[in-house]
Amino acid sequence: MQYTLSYWERQSFLPDPDVVVVGSGIVGLAAAIHLKTLDPSLRVMVLERGPLPVGASTRNAGFACFGSLTELLDDLTRMTEDEVLGIVEKRWTGLQRLRGLLGDAVMDYQGHGGYEMFTEAEEHIFRQCADRIPDFNKKIGQITGHPEVYKVVDECLPRFGFAGVRRLILNQPEGQVHTGRLMSALLDKAREAGVTLVNGVGVRGFEDSGQGVEIETEYGWTLRTRRLLVCVNGFAQRLLPQLEVTPARNQVLITRPIPGLPVEGCFHYDRGYFYFRNIDGRILLGGGRNLDPETEKSDLFDANAGIRAALVKLLYEVVCPDSRPEVDYWWTGILGLGPVKKPIIQHVSPNVAVAVRLSGMGVAIGTLVGQEGAELALRGQI
Ligand SMILES: Cc1cc2nc3c(=O)[nH]c(=O)nc-3n(C[C@H](O)[C@H](O)[C@H](O)COP(=O)(O)OP(=O)(O)OC[C@H]3O[C@@H](n4cnc5c(N)ncnc54)[C@H](O)[C@@H]3O)c2cc1C
Repeated sequence: MQYTLSYWERQSFLPDPDVVVVGSGIVGLAAAIHLKTLDPSLRVMVLERGPLPVGASTRNAGFACFGSLTELLDDLTRMTEDEVLGIVEKRWTGLQRLRGLLGDAVMDYQGHGGYEMFTEAEEHIFRQCADRIPDFNKKIGQITGHPEVYKVVDECLPRFGFAGVRRLILNQPEGQVHTGRLMSALLDKAREAGVTLVNGVGVRGFEDSGQGVEIETEYGWTLRTRRLLVCVNGFAQRLLPQLEVTPARNQVLITRPIPGLPVEGCFHYDRGYFYFRNIDGRILLGGGRNLDPETEKSDLFDANAGIRAALVKLLYEVVCPDSRPEVDYWWTGILGLGPVKKPIIQHVSPNVAVAVRLSGMGVAIGTLVGQEGAELALRGQI
């Protein structure tokens, strides 16, 4: 549908704002709230193409995690140790800022820890991880203030009732949140701060004249703003093809409630390609994009039948071998990945900045990325 705005619509609903944020995921909302904190007189508008935020932030697993050992060791093959620890620090700081902004109760934050599981065939990977525990405990302990971040806890395995899992490493300061409550609270916070939230309006493109930015919407009408901040993560290539952001789809299921569910915490399986947790007496389980990586490089929300079958197999054979619960919900979410785990927070023109590529860690790092993006956008390119 193409149309022009009426005089009334333009004046009363969509007067030209000072700053426009594109995307109302965790990053866009954190950015918008921060802009109003920095300068309450700013007219800040968020343009979101979905009726709700519809990318990753309302579709994730709610792991408040900052680094499992296989992930850190894998990162060390592409980044220096300082870079890897720098990202851990940003995730930790982001998480503390999120908790400070919303409070734990409102997003049902629970500090049950994050676990990494290893099968018998993965004993050599477990060994590599276990050998690094003293070193990481020292270095990540300095970041988190926790005396013993990582710990081998094989003795917990019988309690959880998994099948075929031989080793377990616990990351003690990790936690989990209720994703829906978190996002709902962030939206409330943005409204309270005086941010104008406009849903159902997709941005098709923009032009920075150097004096300001003209934003073209999918309806054909335009808006003018002084500064623009693009927070569209996995969809970034549609607006800015030059950015190194690849969309990556993830399939997720939630089971029906399982009486006496023994699982508590966030769990990573097969080097983190699969993940699951407890929520409301159910299991949420997702991942598996490594089984069909090319198909899953997509920003369309399609189901992947092969991956979904693999998730059910994992649920029945490993996670809940005794209860074999029915699946109650399925959905798909879109991540934004790149060659390294570093988010892109930069200007693309004098008045346009981006804060994208959260690499599957937006719950932890998203608030910080949004806040840094907001500060950059407000400054303009110097
Ligand atoms: C299945 C799944 C599980 C995950 N689990 C975890 C986890 O447990 N822990 C963790 O830390 N992270 C997890 N993540 C990653 C985390 O959810 C993301 O890193 C984070 O939500 C990214 O936030 P964002 O605001 O950058 O992007 P998004 O939440 O994707 O928000 C981008 C928004 O931009 C909007 N948009 C896109 N294009 C346009 C346009 N042209 N015009 C207007 N609006 C537009 C979209 O509709 C969307 O609402 C998971 C992700 C997925 C998909």
